[in-house]
Amino acid sequence: MTMSKWTINDSKKLYKINQWGEGYFSVNSLGNLTVRTESKKSGEFDIASVIKEMKEQGVKFPAVIRFHDILRSRVRLINKVFRETIEEYDYEGRYYGVYPIKVNQMREVVEEIIDAGLKYDYGLEAGSKPELLAVLAMNDSKKALTILNGYKDDDYMKLALLGREVGRKIIIVIEKFSEIKKIIRLSKEVGVEPLIGLRGKMSVPGCGRWSGSSGERAKFGLSVSEMLQAVELFRANGLGDCIKLFHFHIGSQIPEIRSFKEAISEGGRIYAKLVQAGVPLEYFDIGGGLGVDYDGTRTINDSSTNYSLSEYVADVIYSLKQICDLEGVTHPNIVTESGRAVTAHHSCVVTNVIGKIDATSDFNTKKVTGEHIFVSNMRELEEDLHNNERLQETYNDVIQLKESALNAFKLGILSLEERAKIETIYTRVLNYITSKLIDSDKVPEELQSLVDDTSAKYLCNFSVFQSAADSWAIGQVLPVVPITRLHEKPTVNCSIADITCDSDGKIDKFIDETGHRTTFPVHELGEEDYYLGIFLTGAYQDVMGDMHNLFGRLNEVHVFKDEEDESGFYIEEVIKGQSCAKVLSTMQYNPQYMAYSLKKVVDREVARGKIQPRRGVKLVDFYEDCLRSYTYLES
Ligand SMILES: *Cc1c(COP(=O)(O)O)cnc(C)c1O
Repeated sequence: MTMSKWTINDSKKLYKINQWGEGYFSVNSLGNLTVRTESKKSGEFDIASVIKEMKEQGVKFPAVIRFHDILRSRVRLINKVFRETIEEYDYEGRYYGVYPIKVNQMREVVEEIIDAGLKYDYGLEAGSKPELLAVLAMNDSKKALTILNGYKDDDYMKLALLGREVGRKIIIVIEKFSEIKKIIRLSKEVGVEPLIGLRGKMSVPGCGRWSGSSGERAKFGLSVSEMLQAVELFRANGLGDCIKLFHFHIGSQIPEIRSFKEAISEGGRIYAKLVQAGVPLEYFDIGGGLGVDYDGTRTINDSSTNYSLSEYVADVIYSLKQICDLEGVTHPNIVTESGRAVTAHHSCVVTNVIGKIDATSDFNTKKVTGEHIFVSNMRELEEDLHNNERLQETYNDVIQLKESALNAFKLGILSLEERAKIETIYTRVLNYITSKLIDSDKVPEELQSLVDDTSAKYLCNFSVFQSAADSWAIGQVLPVVPITRLHEKPTVNCSIADITCDSDGKIDKFIDETGHRTTFPVHELGEEDYYLGIFLTGAYQDVMGDMHNLFGRLNEVHVFKDEEDESGFYIEEVIKGQSCAKVLSTMQYNPQYMAYSLKKVVDREVARGKIQPRRGVKLVDFYEDCLRSYTYLES
């Protein structure tokens, strides 16, 4: 094997940066990960420099970094691709995208999306009353659509009608038959005509992880018979002319493009037949589902997609046009509710590696006279190791010997020292076998679990439950990449453990050339802080996290490119993560009272002469400082 020098290109390939990064991420000659917008080299800046500046400003890690230029770029890209393809295909309708805020409701994120989408009349979607309150306040465009999904009570409906009164294009999508009577009653009561959408329950079974969003047993939507009844009911109440939109949503992160085609061929027919029956529909809303290629494999596995944005758009427009032309109906305006594909790329979680958890021990295993035969046997196995190619056999032998030794210990035959020696040699042997396996091209299947079990873990300062919920909940693969040293060959294979007291608090699914693996290559820890970035966390992860172990929301910085600036960027805003006091108060604790209680205990001990007054004050101060501090580890 020739040892050619490791280059940044090797790192790009290893971590598949071009594949999942959609051109937004690269590596510079210093070996640092960089960000750029729309694949242009200009406006590229160094994430390590962002981290350096964050440290100078006292921002503690873990932290979320939001690249607002990427967010803007996604909005631009989706709108541009739709517009260009519409033109290319002589499609007669327009594109009206809406962003479903449930995917990331952060005000700054929604504001940025609205701003970037202004010239495209890009709108918002809400799925609950609080989300509706937000979208009513956030977007005042009279041209952009506001789509309302989800189950609705009277207040929700009345808020929607309020939006109509102030001139907003708000479309109430009927998800369930009983909502029809409600809207008829309330619109009469308030004296405002609604804009109405009908959500179809498609027979196409959904696919991907959220397949329950579609199919006959789906939670949402009207069957064809219910839709026809709905039209009758609205007509009978003078609201027949208000039915403007037909909607379906077949699930999120749809891996196969075929699913969209099938949904459109069914939905398109329903649309056309309704129009032919005199329903004044104008919008065809295909929901969300546009996927993100998290693992960069361009396949139909759950963390990938077998299509690109342009292929998706072309398929949607082409299929819909074909059906409308066949049925002889006007091409409708196309609405999409893509959320994931808009926000996923713009944010990442940066965590510092605190240390390495591995099974090494330097317990003295020297031979002593009269030691138990099991210890001698284990030692002989180890001594034999280096001139022995039969790794599998040795592996079986040490496992068996360790088991016998454990039984002997339980019977009182082995001493504590002897057990410690056996464990130490055992671990050394396994580590040796693993290192041999990693150097070889292919790990035999029977030994794969050994590699998994003995591989090191990097302990990282974050909580999977707060920052990468889907990686825990549904096995979502997220790209993890070292921020620096990408010009060096990574020599350690490891998985990631977080700082929660939960054995599920880990990441052990990583991107591979062909699929997924349980460990990934990183650099040996040195003197310098070592940071890992967990990428594509902008959709759902940012907002779905929970406070397992009371690890709260992360510090956040919002970064913009600035080509005039020497470093190429500026930090526009720092949002402080939650303090211990804050997360405790969400669980009904009163931090002030807690400090007071502790002070009372200290005072009592001071009064009893057990603690010196000066020391007592210090202890109380320290407790209060900790209440104010960040919930994560501070080094
Ligand atoms: C969740 C949801 C979306 C967003 O889906 P993505 O896959 O994130 O684009 C759109 N529409 C509806 C009705 C939804 O429930």
